[in-house]
Amino acid sequence: MRTIALPAAPRRLLISVAHPDDETFGMGSTIAHYAAQGIEVHVVCATRGEEGEIASGSDATPETLGDVREAELREAAEIMGVKKVHLLGYRDSGMVPVEEIENPDAFVNANEADLLVKLTRLIRDIRPHVVVTMPPDGGTGHPDHIRINQATTRAFKLAAHPGYMEPGGLVHSPTKLFYKEYPRARMREFIEAVTKGRPEMAEPIRQSGIDKFGVEEDVISTKIDVSDVLETRIKANACHASQGSPFDMIPPEMVPTVLGTDYFTRAIPAWTGGELESDLFVGL
Ligand SMILES: [Zn+2]
Repeated sequence: MRTIALPAAPRRLLISVAHPDDETFGMGSTIAHYAAQGIEVHVVCATRGEEGEIASGSDATPETLGDVREAELREAAEIMGVKKVHLLGYRDSGMVPVEEIENPDAFVNANEADLLVKLTRLIRDIRPHVVVTMPPDGGTGHPDHIRINQATTRAFKLAAHPGYMEPGGLVHSPTKLFYKEYPRARMREFIEAVTKGRPEMAEPIRQSGIDKFGVEEDVISTKIDVSDVLETRIKANACHASQGSPFDMIPPEMVPTVLGTDYFTRAIPAWTGGELESDLFVGL
């Protein structure tokens, strides 16, 4: 009897974000790094970024911005090697206090049960081994970022629950959930490097509050060398022309440092300290 060796099933990674550009500016190097290794990468994006600030030089208008940003997302995804982009169809809530967001279509006002059904169904359809989403504080504090973190964390658990949605239907239990983080110490180094070359940037940076972004080093569980995809990452950044890449202000000599390493906290199974992991797929 002859046995036939079946090709190994691809490992799959699901990236869950709130707006077009979050996937690239936040996780583009991770996406390109794993796609280059033959991992099947899917991106789910909750909104089309309709409330984003339009960068100078872009011909987008408030009316066209959603279409423009969706196209930018799809172009960047293709460059990074994403298998498929999945849009949840909510509206960008904008960067204002949550209680002032009245639009019923805004992502922060989305019906929680409906949102969880959409995300859980995607997880069960895609069957990822690893899921990565935005950090609990949203990284920038954007209410949509915080909501996608919370919803993705809940859907990650619900997808494995046989009683949820379709009793007796197909369930899926991804193995690991990560939050994309940035160590505060690295952020400070970055700001220092930028303002050294361009002192005029000090005030806009202070106003943006990014010096307060990031987490303490001890919550980082995973540090990945993604310097292999630097060129791809820079090309993907450039796709989001309507937003202008925040990385454009990095002095060229700092680019490999800032874009060459990605940091994460492992949320499930919860990180309890120890030697840092150097791969999201350790043991898979
Ligand atoms: Zn965003």
